Amino acid sequence: MIDQYGRTIDYMRLSVTDLCNLRCIYCMPSEGVTKRNHQDILSVEEIEEIVQTAASLGIHKIRLTGGEPLVRRGIEEIVARVANVSGIDEVALTTNGILLPEKIDFLKQAGVTRINISLDTLNENLYREITRGGELADALRGIEAVLAAGMLPLKINAVLIGGVNDEQIVQLVELTKNEEVHLRFIELMPMGQCVDWNQERFISADTVLKKIPALHFIGRQGVANVYRQEGYKGTVGLINPVSNHFCESCNRIRVTADGKMKPCLHSHDEIVLKGLHGKALFDTMKQAIYEKPCSHHLDSDTGSDSARDMYSIGG
Ligand code: SAM
Ligand code: SF4
Repeated sequence: MIDQYGRTIDYMRLSVTDLCNLRCIYCMPSEGVTKRNHQDILSVEEIEEIVQTAASLGIHKIRLTGGEPLVRRGIEEIVARVANVSGIDEVALTTNGILLPEKIDFLKQAGVTRINISLDTLNENLYREITRGGELADALRGIEAVLAAGMLPLKINAVLIGGVNDEQIVQLVELTKNEEVHLRFIELMPMGQCVDWNQERFISADTVLKKIPALHFIGRQGVANVYRQEGYKGTVGLINPVSNHFCESCNRIRVTADGKMKPCLHSHDEIVLKGLHGKALFDTMKQAIYEKPCSHHLDSDTGSDSARDMYSIGG
């Protein structure tokens, strides 16, 4: 549907859990998060009804996220039901990749069309440091599983952290050399765990262009400026949520695992959907989409107005 500022809203990011098998330094507290009571998170049936309602309001694309969506019990059934909703023609998944080797066949067969894997470094020790204990080899096995399943192009997302992984840029871009991998560098957003981090951690995605002048611009795709290195099969996207807001073309809404709609990632506003059904759910979602805020004013020193960490919104 069209919101009050004339934007077409057709994309919903749906978090299915706050829990995760990693503890990335910018996303999760080191001690992890307390598991919510079963009744406090959306059930499979509630997720299905929200997606059906969203589809009737013009949402065509769903991205399942979290926390780590693949640790949610019953993720298989959630995927199958969401993919079956009439009007939904794309079901994507954002994951750290660790559980992909065991889940990929089902996900593909159930109707997941696109997978994004988050990977901030190709250095084992740095991976352990950023994820607080994760094994790089496990994430790489996840990437191999997607490539072997032929689910191409595969998107790999890397959050840029100044002084932490900016020395990894050249190595990460090499992932695009021989495979149809769309690597996307995303600016670190000051929210949750990293809201008070030193300014030098927040670097512009354009840093990538300074490191690799051979990248040439090939066009804009969604929220990314996309580049390619001559002779490379894949591409490199730069996403600048901090240095260059894209609010005027924002087409998305978010629903959290506990059933709140967030029409804007960086707004304090949350609309309770859990407990609503039928017409009440439809009317509430319709109004929330229509009233999606015009813009946010995130920058590296003001921080986000959202009270939540990324793991509890669904990045
Ligand atoms: N666990 C899954 C994963 O890591 O892909 C899905 C959820 S995670 C919250 C989604 C994405 O949000 C990841 O790519 C992560 O790097 C990104 N993210 C988390 N906190 C962020 C922050 N403060 N700024 C920018 N991206 C962030
Ligand atoms: Fe988990 Fe993803 Fe957050 Fe890392 S970024 S802690 S993998 S939810």
